[in-house]
Amino acid sequence: MGLLSQGSPLSWEETQRHADHVRRHGILQFLHIYHAVKDRHKDVLKWGDEVEYMLVSFDHENKRVQLVLSGEDVLETLQEKGERTNPNHPTLWRPEYGSYMIEGTPGQPYGGTMSEFNTVEDNMRKRRKEATSVLDENQALCTITSFPRLGCPGFTLPEYKPNPVEGGASKSLFFPDEAINKHPRFGTLTRNIRHRRGEKVVINVPIFKDKNTPSPFVETFPEDEEAAKASKPDHIYMDAMGFGMGNCCLQVTFQACSISEARYLYDQLATICPIVMALSAASPFYRGYVSDIDCRWGVISASVDDRTREERGLEPLKNNSYKISKSRYDSIDSYLSKCGEKYNDIDLTVDKAIYEQLLQEGIDHLLAQHVAHLFIRDPLTLFEEKIHLDDANESDHFENIQSTNWQTMRFKPPPPNSDIGWRVEFRPMEVQLTDFENSAYVVFVVLLTRVILSYKLDFLIPLSKVDENMKAAQKRDAVLQGGSTVVDGCGKAQASSELAAEEYTLMSIDTIINGKEGVFPGLIPILNSYLENMEVDVDTRCSILNYLKLIKKRASGELMTVAKWMREFIAHHPDYKQDSIITDEINYSLLWKCNQIANELCECPELLGSAFRKVKDSGSKTDSSK
Ligand code: GLU
Ligand code: MG
Repeated sequence: MGLLSQGSPLSWEETQRHADHVRRHGILQFLHIYHAVKDRHKDVLKWGDEVEYMLVSFDHENKRVQLVLSGEDVLETLQEKGERTNPNHPTLWRPEYGSYMIEGTPGQPYGGTMSEFNTVEDNMRKRRKEATSVLDENQALCTITSFPRLGCPGFTLPEYKPNPVEGGASKSLFFPDEAINKHPRFGTLTRNIRHRRGEKVVINVPIFKDKNTPSPFVETFPEDEEAAKASKPDHIYMDAMGFGMGNCCLQVTFQACSISEARYLYDQLATICPIVMALSAASPFYRGYVSDIDCRWGVISASVDDRTREERGLEPLKNNSYKISKSRYDSIDSYLSKCGEKYNDIDLTVDKAIYEQLLQEGIDHLLAQHVAHLFIRDPLTLFEEKIHLDDANESDHFENIQSTNWQTMRFKPPPPNSDIGWRVEFRPMEVQLTDFENSAYVVFVVLLTRVILSYKLDFLIPLSKVDENMKAAQKRDAVLQGGSTVVDGCGKAQASSELAAEEYTLMSIDTIINGKEGVFPGLIPILNSYLENMEVDVDTRCSILNYLKLIKKRASGELMTVAKWMREFIAHHPDYKQDSIITDEINYSLLWKCNQIANELCECPELLGSAFRKVKDSGSKTDSSK
């Protein structure tokens, strides 16, 4: 989730007192970096994925599954056995928000050659195996985006009661502080978001109305005034950062060859975010209920929304400086490249003084407004030992603000004095059940960047349309409902398409991914024609084709998204009463099935298709359907 500073976190009051100091020095640190490396070019493509995992424990006798709060210990063991012993260790492990979570990445970034696409899945398998090997019996590493009974009584092992009392970090009615990672960053973030906002965070997710779901669906919280006021009828109410940041995702970071290539990729991929998010949809259940959404995005967004009532526009501005239209976790608000400029059509709140300062330092309007927009936020944590820094050689204050702006895309300047180049991070995807699927999504996105750069494709549409797409993409069955997604005509590459005349139009995800004659060539056909012109060894090619087949079939509806598959699994479960309730037993069956699919490569034709079935334990790339 970001850098971890060691040390003692300051209280919210003290952190707030240093807010201007952090912003002022954060900008100076950014300027030092910018001036030092703005002309860097010829960096090579490097990239890496990040997979977030949950630790679960199965109780087969009682048919229960719980989240194991041992992330810190598991992480310590993995780092000790891995990167600390061997600098070339093939995996790296990092903490995540939940005490039941860890994050894994490849030990070294991947490079630009095609054959590296063939090593992604092996590396993900290694990670799964390595982490699984340090778990207790009956425990497993799961790549699920949201744990269906997160926040239900006894969902953790060991069990803890929530602590909705003064002094707690979340003050949640459902989510105990013990489920938050023990590193001080995470509890402090939780507490300070709540302090800054002036009340607990509020998450209301529409409930899925099944045959026997009460209508209206109303939960009452007589013992908690805040909850009674905040919870909405026909919604699943949640009140803690953990309900959002306690979810898992799949991210990809690329190093571009120069700052301008990074800005171009940032923009182009931003428009792709809602489409790939919808295709990766994997989180239909919250707090033990079936919801009416398929993606985590809006839940996390609300879970870290630290805006005050004034900033949310509910009260006239008095103590705060701006009305702010989005949470810190949300879609991007401005394009960064020249060709994006005319599509910057959403209101952008900026810190004017910082904007002017950046212009004076020779930074162009687009980059200046991007940074000045990130810097309207307050620092959420500050460590006593990290207040006074060497702005020419450190960047903690810049990173403090940058890393708590969790947007769909992140534009990352190089760290000071490093040989890392300008990077962009692609952040909207939900994590999939299997290493095969996760590899497929990662490879698809990386290949897309290659094609965008080689063919100079232009997918830009007005950012307000991207935001509409983000909203649509989270809805139940977004892939198939279609009708709300818009993409540019990609006219430069395929000038013959009818779209060349029009700038953008409404298309289904199927059309965008697979193409439709006379309308749009389709991303997969474009990727395929790119691949035909590349030197690729047979084995790699076979893997890539299988990956693209998965994306293609998910887009067309031939295969289900993980979210849809989970809904079907629940709907057909003998214990399910068509009342939108996921009991302990149903949850256990679902998670056990997910675990089997991930580890035993068992057949799941609706999800993976028989074409993707792998021979058990062989680790080979054989396509057994042939
Ligand atoms: N777990 C968060 C998500 O699902 C991302 C946290 C991070 O930035 O690493 O989007
Ligand atoms: Mg993470």
